[in-house]
Amino acid sequence: MPLFTKRLLLAASLFLLTLPVLAAAPADSAAFNVEAATQHYLNTLTPAQKASSDAYFEGGYWLTLWRELYALGLAAVFLVLGLSPRLKSWTQRLPTKVLPTLAYIALYLLLAHVLTYPLSIYDDYFREHQYGLSNQSFGQWLSDDLKSLAVSVVAGSVVILILYVAIRRTGRRWWVWATALAAIFLVVQVFVSPIYIRPLFNKYTNLPAGPVRDQILSMARANGVPADNVYLFDASRQSKRISANVSGLGSTIRVSLNDNLLNRCTPAEVQAVMGHELGHYVLNHIPKMLIFFVLIVGLGLWFVDWAFHRLLGRYGARWGISSIGDVGGLPLVAALFSVFTFFAQPGFNTIIRTQEQEADVFGLNAARQPDGFASTAMKLSEYRKIDPSPWEEAIFFDHPSGRTRVLTAMRWKAEHLQDK
Ligand SMILES: [Zn+2]
Repeated sequence: MPLFTKRLLLAASLFLLTLPVLAAAPADSAAFNVEAATQHYLNTLTPAQKASSDAYFEGGYWLTLWRELYALGLAAVFLVLGLSPRLKSWTQRLPTKVLPTLAYIALYLLLAHVLTYPLSIYDDYFREHQYGLSNQSFGQWLSDDLKSLAVSVVAGSVVILILYVAIRRTGRRWWVWATALAAIFLVVQVFVSPIYIRPLFNKYTNLPAGPVRDQILSMARANGVPADNVYLFDASRQSKRISANVSGLGSTIRVSLNDNLLNRCTPAEVQAVMGHELGHYVLNHIPKMLIFFVLIVGLGLWFVDWAFHRLLGRYGARWGISSIGDVGGLPLVAALFSVFTFFAQPGFNTIIRTQEQEADVFGLNAARQPDGFASTAMKLSEYRKIDPSPWEEAIFFDHPSGRTRVLTAMRWKAEHLQDK
């Protein structure tokens, strides 16, 4: 039960993080009060900034619920209002056995995306502007959205078609085979994403020469990360958020920092963030995450199989679905999978947040910039609530909160004050 164990460990670590006494702290750090230093950072946020940050992040909790209800409403449009049987009868006129299935899948993906526009335009465009986080005009937003729609319709149609061919051949144990296929697709997607998908939306370049680059590359070398694998990308095309990431797998793995980070942060802050990203790289977080994702997808597909067969007996005829291999059941499969992911979200969040906490600690050791790390954590409050309750953090946070991060940094600082 890795998920349960991880959550227990996290609960324990949260508890430890809130302990104010530093028993192992060296004598000369006695004057340095971790709690007071943490509070000092938290106080740099004005009440208005904190209110806006809380409202943005807490609104996200509700949006998760609205997105789920919207997804169920969408399934009702396809199944209860009869859009799905109509799509099936149009596409069945096409020749061969494969083409009708492929056409149905492509049309479903296209229509589902378009019908979700009222929510996605509010969520991704208006709300981001409302909180001053976006740099895009509506035209630019739509252009990016249409590009990702094209990628998901083309790639999604082929992937789902292969899944349906497999489902029709494997019978009741389809979900085991589908999980194996999903694992292959996930690995391929993560592998090709830095070369073929991300460059569709942003330009990736080498870091500009200068002391910041020298520091980052030196830290990369010290941790066994090849300098060729460090990139800069123009995230300011889309947003004001400061961020960095690790992407790819095997020969395509790379660390990328965004230009907002480079332009809005001090060299110490950039170094602190890059130390964190190098942590993801060195600790093999992407392959580990893929293993967790495949296990969760497998559990999700098992749930879909169980619920699908229960609903099929009762509503199959009314919704025009004959079996799990019938592509007309795709809206139901999608809705059931979305119900699963909705309830699995705290589990997903905890797995990701645990890796983030590991990368935080790695980054502090690699960059040795506790104040740079703490002040960056404060800057991230633009889009992440700074001081949630422990339960809120455990359920809704996919990264440690600002408070947890500042506290981790200040505790590290207290225990390493004597290091030079
Ligand atoms: Zn991270």
